[in-house]
This record gives sequence, C-alpha cells and structure tokens, in this order.
Amino acid sequence: MSVEAAVDRVARPSERQLAELHAAFRVFTEATTTLEEQYRELQAYADALRLELDDKKRALDASIERQRCLETQALRHGRLAAMGEMAATLAHEVRNPLGAMELCIKLLVDEVRAQPSALRLAEQVAGGVADLNHLVTNILDYTRLPEPRLATTDLGALVDEVLAAAAPALGDVTVERRGARAATWPVDRRLLAQALHNLVRNAAEAMAGSGTLVIALEPSPRWLRLVVADDGPGVPAASAESVFTPFFTTKERGTGLGLAVARAAVAAHGGTLALRPSARGATFVLTLPHAAPSGR
Ligand code: ADP
Repeated sequence: MSVEAAVDRVARPSERQLAELHAAFRVFTEATTTLEEQYRELQAYADALRLELDDKKRALDASIERQRCLETQALRHGRLAAMGEMAATLAHEVRNPLGAMELCIKLLVDEVRAQPSALRLAEQVAGGVADLNHLVTNILDYTRLPEPRLATTDLGALVDEVLAAAAPALGDVTVERRGARAATWPVDRRLLAQALHNLVRNAAEAMAGSGTLVIALEPSPRWLRLVVADDGPGVPAASAESVFTPFFTTKERGTGLGLAVARAAVAAHGGTLALRPSARGATFVLTLPHAAPSGR
C-alpha cells in the first residue's frame, strides 16, 4: 500500500464513525434546544419574581408610610388626651372660686339695686361669671361619662329654675310655657338641668336677646317630651345632625360642646334629643322614656 493510500484511509472517517458523529450532533442540538427552553423558562420565572418583588416592595413602602402615619396620629392623640386631662383639671380648679364669685356677685347686685350705673356693671360681671360657669360645667360634663343618679323630680319646677338661671342670657326674650306646668319624672336633676340650660342658652343666643322662646312639657304614660323652640334663624338642614357633634360650632366664641353634652345626658337617661324640622326657628325635642334605664 502506498503512503498516500494509507494516509487517506486514516483521515477519512468510516460510515460508522460518521453515524456516531451525527448522533452526537443530534444529542448536542437537542440538549442545546432543551437548555435554551429551560433558559427561557428561567428568564420568565426571574421576570415574574422581579415583578413580585416590585409589588412586595411597593406594599412594604405603603405599610411603612401607614406605620409612620399611625405613629404621628398616636402622638397627636396622646397630646390631645393630655390636653383634655389638663382642661378637665383646670375646669375643676376654676369651678370652686367661680361658685364663690357667683354667690358674691348676686349679693352685690342686690346691694346696688338702687344705683343704676353700679347695677349695670354688677350685672355685666354676673353675666361673665355665668358664662364662665356654663363653659366650665360643659367641659367637665364632656370629659366624664354621665352616670345619672335618678330621683323623682318635678320637671316643671326644674324648667323654672333653668329659666331663672338663664335670665341674664335671655334678655328681652319672651318665654311662653305650654303643656303641663308640672310633671314628676325619675331624672338626674343636675344632668337634666345642664342639658336644658344648654338648649335655652342656644335659643337665647340664636335670637340675640329678643324673640319668643317656647317651652312645652308633654307627659304621657309611656314617655315625657320637653320641647324647646325659638324663632331665631334656625339650623340649616345640612347641619341638622352635625350640630350634635362635639366641637361643631358656628359661633365665634362657641365650644361646640353644648348639644353634645345635652345629648349624652339625655341618652344616659335612655332618652333622645333631636332637632325637629320646623318652618321657623329651631325646635329641639327631648324625649325621656317612662322606664328608667336599668342598673342606674
Ligand atoms: P356652641 O353653642 O358652643 O356653638 P352647641 O353644641 O351648643 O355649641 O351648638 C352647636 C351649634 O349648633 C351652634 O354653634 C349653632 O350653629 C347650632 N345651634 C344650636 N342651637 C341652635 C339654635 N337654637 N338655633 C340655631 N342654631 C343652633
């Protein structure tokens, strides 16, 4: 055999070798395709994970923000609660000297009754002291939950007392009494007087010292109604419920506590206080059920 023939034989692959080479290529191609598919799947999985991560990051950011808001709110509530306690302590401390001042100023008014200019001044002081007393009592009543101590009370006489106490605020307002003049009912005298006082003062302020205030006592076997109506500008329909919300006020020097305190006092008796729609002025209706709430 020549040298060329021997080289040719070694260099040219046999049929079997070619078939093996083909098979190896096929396996390689298949493996490459599978790897490519797996790579694509992995990439899709990685994309989905990235999206999920973005979502989680957004949710985490939102919850960190919420947490920050809650912390700020808790701080604000804490400060408000501390201020509320301070207001209650202040109101409590102020009440005793105010009581003494009220007594003294009443004596002084009697003393100077014959001197018109001194009387006017004394009555101004008396009005200021009564305003402060009213404010302090509302703050104290608002900060503590009313716990009525019921005693059979003549509500006609209670109305008389409230009207006498509110006389300086009523000024030239004409007071018209309707319905029963007397009706005994189990109530907490102080709580109900304060509720009624708040309604009467509001009516007086709404009428700015002149107009007609109607107070009607309507007892029945199942309930007792006390209606306080004035002919002032009335309450706009849109504010009919908000007026009972604590701190809602349309007055320059109002606290927005009068009606909230009155409603809480009436509710503590198991009753309701509502604004009755009326063509003229404002009409508040206080309803007390016959049966006192149990356990009080
Ligand atoms: P304040 O008298 O300090 O404002 P209130 O809770 O007693 O607090 O009253 C809340 C608001 O309800 C008042 O500011 C006023 O706008 C309205 N209001 C209450 N009573 C009357 C009334 N008789 N007539 C018109 N508006 C009233």
